[in-house]
Amino acid sequence: MPRQLKAKDVLKKDDLIVITGAGGFIGGSLASYFHDLGFTRIRALDKKPLPEWYQRVEGVESLCLDVSYRANAVKACEGAVEVYNLAADMGGMGFIEKFRIECLRSILINTHMIDAAYLAGATRYFFSSSACVYNTDLQKDPHVRALTESDAYPAMSERGYGWEKLMSEMFCQEYWAERNFETHIARFHNVYGPNGTWDGGREKAPAALSRKVIEAKHNSNNEILIWGSGEQTRSFMYIDDCLQGIDMIMHCKELIATPINLGTSELVSVNELVSIIEEIGGIKLLRKYDLDAPKGVAGRNSDNTFIQQVLGWEPNTPLREGMKTTYRWIEQQYLDRLAGKPTIS
Ligand code: NAD
Repeated sequence: MPRQLKAKDVLKKDDLIVITGAGGFIGGSLASYFHDLGFTRIRALDKKPLPEWYQRVEGVESLCLDVSYRANAVKACEGAVEVYNLAADMGGMGFIEKFRIECLRSILINTHMIDAAYLAGATRYFFSSSACVYNTDLQKDPHVRALTESDAYPAMSERGYGWEKLMSEMFCQEYWAERNFETHIARFHNVYGPNGTWDGGREKAPAALSRKVIEAKHNSNNEILIWGSGEQTRSFMYIDDCLQGIDMIMHCKELIATPINLGTSELVSVNELVSIIEEIGGIKLLRKYDLDAPKGVAGRNSDNTFIQQVLGWEPNTPLREGMKTTYRWIEQQYLDRLAGKPTIS
């Protein structure tokens, strides 16, 4: 069994951990994760004003900074021991198919953050890449072969968002090759869970479909509109697995400058996902399909052979379990919004 080193095995409790994108879903959850582990110096950054952050963790230094500007990235990394770059202008298919320029511009974030982290003398740097780097020609069938790390090349990534991630991965690899700066790269496959975007246009399928089921239930409407044919397939990773994975990948010497899948290999169609959510909500809806809506590739799954080999672990929260918690959280957000209370989307 390979040894799974984590931050708690490697860092001092007062080493400075810097997290960008901390006003969003995964960055905010990561700040909370390290705080709960007892780390006392965490600097959380996001370009969103502080009242709009999804999570504000007590005792964490929280700064509103746009790190696509060099001076801000330098300020962000001052004194850092570890830097986790989770900031990106992103969303679900509805966002990344429509706003490719915004997605491409995230290249500025990583370009400045990695250089600032290097100049600040940080020990290691984490980049949140995506399964959208994979060659789209390999994802034309819903019964897709799971994607293994070498499938990113020859490159034909998702336009905009995927190419930005692939290029930023290359920055991470070259900072290691040319400058000996330790970098780690995880290719996330669809992450879901509480404290994520659930409305407003950037939400992903698990949150969007949960919201639609909740709306239908509360409005006594018997219908649900599904983007695409519902036959497109994906795998979905629960946030807790994502956080564990980030921690292990960042502290694994075999994974320096080596992109690795971080996702589950439990492939489901969007129709199956809807059935799971209906079951949780205790309702059965009439399904309507919008075939012109953004739907992304036909199928995508994570091949976890490599992560099993290096970490002896893979994300393992069953979709049904993770979706129960997520659904309940979104339902509470929905009710809070109806009651005029503050919510995150
Ligand atoms: P999110 O949108 O909830 O969070 C991203 C945050 O980055 C936002 O709060 C945003 O305001 C912030 N940001 C954007 N530009 C910034 C800038 N210039 N300076 C400072 N902050 C900025 O998204 P998330 O789901 O938490 O994703 C985190 C990372 O994981 C991103 O890099 C994303 O591309 C990657 N990723 C996520 C998924 C997923 O399923 N959620 C899948 C693959 C990859």
